[in-house]
Amino acid sequence: MSVVSTNTLHPVHSEAPDTEPDVDVLCEERLSDLTSRLRLRGLRVTSERLAVLRVLLESGIHPCAEEIWSRVQQYQPSMSLGTVYSTLALLAEMGEALEIQTFGGKCYDGRRPTPHPHLVCVKCHEVCDLNMDVPVAQGPLRAMLEKRGYEYVESCVRVLGLCPRCREQERLVRAEEVIHERH
Ligand SMILES: [Zn+2]
Ligand SMILES: [Zn+2]
Repeated sequence: MSVVSTNTLHPVHSEAPDTEPDVDVLCEERLSDLTSRLRLRGLRVTSERLAVLRVLLESGIHPCAEEIWSRVQQYQPSMSLGTVYSTLALLAEMGEALEIQTFGGKCYDGRRPTPHPHLVCVKCHEVCDLNMDVPVAQGPLRAMLEKRGYEYVESCVRVLGLCPRCREQERLVRAEEVIHERH
């Protein structure tokens, strides 16, 4: 694969949505899109492949393979976890799903399959979209790459934080510890 063509791999879904998409409309469009793209590549349009993308579009979060597998049972009760993994790899390779590295695992974004910044909780590992532009490709980073003879392709911004729920839990634990210390 040539470096220059990377951005042109996913020309269809490049805009970040400002509002929540209408899931039914989104599903219909993306499933028919996947169908024609599979055919174009000479790959079979299987109900398993369509079901995995449907689950990704319906879930609205960043599910891991196991979560996708449990949700996909309603459409494909006999689908194995192995087939879910290979289907996710294919969808990621086709630019239909974005693969996000978490702690010791991966999760997937089917609604926004082009690279975008994520916020990951260091405690519960929940992943959500950051919904802001992080212009890493400009300024000092680009200059540094050029200095080292690299051409910029893309970057995956992953910001680590502690989510409100985990913060509250930690606060309660600390409060409990204080009570114990006093007694
Ligand atoms: Zn958390
Ligand atoms: Zn995302």
